[in-house]
Amino acid sequence: MMVDLSSLNENQLNAVQWQEGPLLVLAGPGSGKTRVLTYRISRMIEESPDKHFRILGLTFTNKAAAEMRERIDALVPNAGERTLLTTFHSFCADLLRQHGHHQGLRPDFSILSQQADRQALLDEAIFKAGEKNNEVFYTGERLIPVITRLLDYSISIDKAETFLQSQNIREAPIISSFYSLYRQLMIEKNSLDFGGLISEALFLLEQKPSIKKQVHRIYPYICVDEFQDTNLSQYKILTHLVSPVTKNLFVVADDDQIIYQWNGANPERLKELQKDFEMKVLQLPENYRCPPEVIDIANKLISHNLNRSADKELLQANKSISKESPIHVHFFDEWEEEASWVAKDILKRHEKSLNKCVVLARTRRLLESIISVFEKNGVPSYLAMRKDEFVGAPMFWLHGVLRLANSRQDREQLRRICKSFYTLEGINLDVNDIMSQAATEDGDYLRAWQRAALQRSEISSETRLFLEQSIPKISDRLDFWKFLEDAFQWIDNLPESHPQNEEFFSEYKEEKETWDQLIMEIVAQYGRDQITLHLLLQELDLRSKAPKPPKHAVPCFTIHASKGMEFDHVYLVGLVEDQLPSWAAIKKGDDSHEMQEERRNCFVAITRTQESLSISYSSRVFGYTKEPSRFLKEMGLV
Ligand code: ATP
Ligand code: MG
Repeated sequence: MMVDLSSLNENQLNAVQWQEGPLLVLAGPGSGKTRVLTYRISRMIEESPDKHFRILGLTFTNKAAAEMRERIDALVPNAGERTLLTTFHSFCADLLRQHGHHQGLRPDFSILSQQADRQALLDEAIFKAGEKNNEVFYTGERLIPVITRLLDYSISIDKAETFLQSQNIREAPIISSFYSLYRQLMIEKNSLDFGGLISEALFLLEQKPSIKKQVHRIYPYICVDEFQDTNLSQYKILTHLVSPVTKNLFVVADDDQIIYQWNGANPERLKELQKDFEMKVLQLPENYRCPPEVIDIANKLISHNLNRSADKELLQANKSISKESPIHVHFFDEWEEEASWVAKDILKRHEKSLNKCVVLARTRRLLESIISVFEKNGVPSYLAMRKDEFVGAPMFWLHGVLRLANSRQDREQLRRICKSFYTLEGINLDVNDIMSQAATEDGDYLRAWQRAALQRSEISSETRLFLEQSIPKISDRLDFWKFLEDAFQWIDNLPESHPQNEEFFSEYKEEKETWDQLIMEIVAQYGRDQITLHLLLQELDLRSKAPKPPKHAVPCFTIHASKGMEFDHVYLVGLVEDQLPSWAAIKKGDDSHEMQEERRNCFVAITRTQESLSISYSSRVFGYTKEPSRFLKEMGLV
């Protein structure tokens, strides 16, 4: 099969045919950036059947990476062998598994995906710094955003104080000492948070030119989607991954869609990129996604932003004007009326294709409220968001056991398996007893937990058998696939012997499906035989555990989560001052960076539309009087 390039327009074709050297495709929403990226990768694979180089495709979410993989798989066979399509975080984890020993990291490091775990680690750093008398003032909870920021900007420990001072943070010296201890503790405990993954990988690339060269050899071509939202650490990583000789970096981006400034993205970064790599810039002015009327209001809206790239062409419509206007604006007195109108309108117009609609809002609070109104009106819907952890007792227990088998002395995991085991079996085991028992033996918490459980006479014979036979397997990390098989069998048989637990199993079915899906993705990326227990755990921690969306239900997305996607019918709700734009941006003023980002949020939202766009707002939201959003006027809609 040949990759069929006939559907591409001339500009797109130029991008897809791009051979060597750096290229930036700077273009608006729906212009085919992601399409061009996947076509180019496919074309290169197809044209070099005898070569062994791999192409590295980087994105921000696992979902986007999986989608990229799917699209490329559909275009060329064997794409898996020739590409690595992954996220910045997953790539860095991979690098650290191979080379992290230079920094004192073992390959089985764990990933702190939970905010609570990061806060606890920071609390420990604060305690270590001797600030225990000041515990009320300095807490992990209060300071974790500053530490995150230091990591997102890849600030080295010796520069942290100056950086914090430049940000007008008064406690700069003390916070920089917490930062230093926090990073030390991550290494000591062999655990990294998301920012830590990137900074440690960066440190490695900076310190070890040979590792860098190895990456250049394996991945001589690098492609990045949605570049506009890279933060400084990720950008620095990228500058190391690209060989300075060949500079084969292919980037697609839209400066009007930067919506992660709070995460360290910055409009200046695109300019920096162009300068650093002497990038040629290619544009794709034609939009294939939206009706012309939507493009018109999108152009009007975004023209109010200052400092846009001067040379980017205005979006042009490729679709033709329809007889009926695709844009509807609706005004209500109360938010509740707005929400139930959306529910009724969706039922009336799109009952057969609920999943082709989307409700978009700036905040999760609005979406949660929409979902409860949808429920009352009998409209199936779901909140599309990241979920960091399995929460039902069976999966919570299982994940905890795997983690404890990997880390052996993790008090938090021990606490979790004790808690969930109580839910599953009604047997209460004491964390401290188990830890002191472990200390008198081999120090292994999981084995100590198993012994403690087996000592209890109430334990059922099935559970006893399972714990006796299977826990040693996993604690010796022998065959975790077999352990998983046994564990699921044990769990599946639990409801019968413990009918009182039934309610805990309602979640189980859904979470087990998610688990199976994630395992499938991880196996597709690495191959079953290559997967070790620690790799499995790391990949699980990098991925969302959100369930697969139901087929006949309306997805409800925050604007941030809808990035890169498209839907037939978009309902943008809550277009009032204090929501979109946010209260914080209004406080900063109309020319502020924050306000411009809010405008880009609105721009991203409306440009998800393929057929129809409904925009709504109310004069009272959650009991407070609200003005219509200024963006309505800017779009010429009021
Ligand atoms: P965003 O900035 O929102 O991520 P994008 O620039 O990545 O948008 P794509 O998602 O690649 O845009 O493309 C938008 C839509 O237009 C997709 O449905 C894509 O299949 C379609 N499309 C792009 N180019 C063409 C083309 N030449 N012919 C037909 N359809 C096209
Ligand atoms: Mg895209």
